[in-house]
Amino acid sequence: MRKWVGLLLVVMLIACSDEALLDDVHISDVAEGAVEDVCAEQQQYLAEEMICAPPLTCEGQQCAAFGHAIIAQLQHVYGSLTEEESIATDEAFRIIASYQIDLQHERIETEEDVSQHEMDLHAELWFDFAWLIPEYARFDLNTFEVFESGETLAHVYMNNPEEAVGRWTLGVNEENIELASETMVTYIHEFAHLLSMRDEEIDYYADKESCTSLWIDDLCFRDDSYIKHYYDAFYTTAQPDAVDYYVSEYAMTSISEDFAETFAHFVLTEQPTTTRPVDEKMMFFYHYGNLVELRADILRRAVTWLEARVALEY
Ligand SMILES: [Zn+2]
Repeated sequence: MRKWVGLLLVVMLIACSDEALLDDVHISDVAEGAVEDVCAEQQQYLAEEMICAPPLTCEGQQCAAFGHAIIAQLQHVYGSLTEEESIATDEAFRIIASYQIDLQHERIETEEDVSQHEMDLHAELWFDFAWLIPEYARFDLNTFEVFESGETLAHVYMNNPEEAVGRWTLGVNEENIELASETMVTYIHEFAHLLSMRDEEIDYYADKESCTSLWIDDLCFRDDSYIKHYYDAFYTTAQPDAVDYYVSEYAMTSISEDFAETFAHFVLTEQPTTTRPVDEKMMFFYHYGNLVELRADILRRAVTWLEARVALEY
């Protein structure tokens, strides 16, 4: 989960009088730019997500430098990629709409009664996430929900434990986050939860008594899970509530939130050079070649994601 850190700027949405669609199933348009598969020079068309991005020209741990170069370039144009400003309000949580994710056609659909206007807004929120996070890394998300809340920015959870694959839900706040950097931190944070909570990470059939690996947050994390390794590296002794130990205040709330926040900062900042505890936490992720490569893959998508986002603001 991710929460506002501080007074959400209330944007008065003008009531929209679009008629609800009459069909039983409402299907969104495909991703923005998807029909136009002509990319700028030195960019590559990614057919799976129907987006353009610079080509990924590295593998595994070698991708660290590739990622740093993109960060340097993006920071030069946009400033910090981890800046946040949203502030919490007391608005209650309510789900507005829930959609099935159609990975093959890059669209979302629902049988619920939503207007075209609402669906367009919600599809934009989904594509914001789907653009940044490669499809191969989010294959098991099958549901997308939009909610209102003064406190929660986004969350992921397992929606159907009985299903073998594709049983996770991503929920995001209807109030679009104003800062592009905060949106990226939030989406990458939620992705980190997904990464650390899949079946290969957690034994969902184990209870506290039968769990022989790591029991935290009422879950049994497997011996070879990311969270278990993270725990062994940083949590066998008490973690002081000190800024030197966490990338953000929200990271102090639990190991899972610390993991997700630190992962987002690992993706969106350059490799740390000090031995501060918080930097050592960020270095944890550099030990995984697959995550270093994934970081680079997310960052190259951020290049065109930010261009599109900034273009919309002007
Ligand atoms: Zn979280």
